[in-house]
Amino acid sequence: MKQENKKNSSYNKIRNNLYANVERHELTERKTFGIVALSALMLASILLFVAAMIETGSKKEYIYVFGDTEQELSEKLAFSDGVQYIDMVALATFCNMESIEKGFAINGTYIKLENGSSLATVNGFNVSLSEKVIIDEKHVLIPIEDAKKLIFGIDIDISGEKTVITATENIYMIAKNVEFDYVTDVSAYLEYINSKDQYISILANKQHSIGEDFSPAKLVEIPKKYRRTDRVLKLDLTAEKALEAMMQDMFALGIDDVCVQSAYRTYAEQQNLFNNYVNSEINKGLSRDEAIANANKYSARPEYSEHRTGLCVDFFVPSCMLELENYGYEGSYPNDVGFTETNAYPWLLKNCWKYGFILRYPEDKVDITGYSYESWHYRFVGLEVASIIHQTGLSYEEYLEIFK
Ligand SMILES: [Zn+2]
Repeated sequence: MKQENKKNSSYNKIRNNLYANVERHELTERKTFGIVALSALMLASILLFVAAMIETGSKKEYIYVFGDTEQELSEKLAFSDGVQYIDMVALATFCNMESIEKGFAINGTYIKLENGSSLATVNGFNVSLSEKVIIDEKHVLIPIEDAKKLIFGIDIDISGEKTVITATENIYMIAKNVEFDYVTDVSAYLEYINSKDQYISILANKQHSIGEDFSPAKLVEIPKKYRRTDRVLKLDLTAEKALEAMMQDMFALGIDDVCVQSAYRTYAEQQNLFNNYVNSEINKGLSRDEAIANANKYSARPEYSEHRTGLCVDFFVPSCMLELENYGYEGSYPNDVGFTETNAYPWLLKNCWKYGFILRYPEDKVDITGYSYESWHYRFVGLEVASIIHQTGLSYEEYLEIFK
């Protein structure tokens, strides 16, 4: 009993101590809670105040100026990962772009975009974007840097408080540095295909005389297997190497019923050729002036002939020539006989740009080039220019006017 009392008393003692501790603790807790609550309230007020200050001090919306129209984009839409975006829908409205499935088109060129993807399709080529495309119900957002790179003819100025967009009339979507495969190993020719030499950009047309004394930088012979065997044909070195690559690939595909029948011509050669055409027109019963005018539609006086640059070739089809000879045809091969019927023609139309060549006198550009359609005449301009002309469908004259 005594022992139990003692036990009880020590229990009570412990209990009392314990309670006292709990009470003390509760008191401290209440005090702490009060301080924390007060601090939180004060902090919240400060934060609210700072937020309010920031909001009034800086823009919450980002303003894009499209001519007379302004578009406001929230920060969430205007920026992602520190990259500034532009709304293609607003840009399309501003530039009169056409809406197509998953994208926009203008002047025969187009871009296709997919939400969340950093790959775009430009004129059929895959193009990597610097950041992902963001598409919601109202917007199609792409990074401004990519818009600048891919859309020719617009300018986006981000230096001021507002983002200002200006546009020209000539807007084109252009894929740059496109990737594709050649048929064979053409690595030895790539430096020529990719040439940016000033010489290869020379313009010789009905309005631009290259003069009487003009001569190409460096002429080399076209290998026998790629030309009419009865002629020695020369080209500018760069154009010739690119031609070899193109013909090597064509031949590898079994498209070998094709060869070059005309390339570089001297002033005298071109003069003779033109005079012959004029004479044959006169023989048809035309006056001299009429004959010159007619000949000028498909040939050129020597000062204006592209063939004198050594940068272009006329193709022909040997088997067709043979056939004509078998039927008693004599003289120079009439280019327009059958070239569009060959398998070389559609292949060239689709692929010649990869080797830096363009169809120089297209069917739909007669008014601009001043030449009748020549399915056989191809001009070397280098891969970069040829790629733009291939994507835009422009004539070389238009290209120089717009892109230079
Ligand atoms: Zn020609």
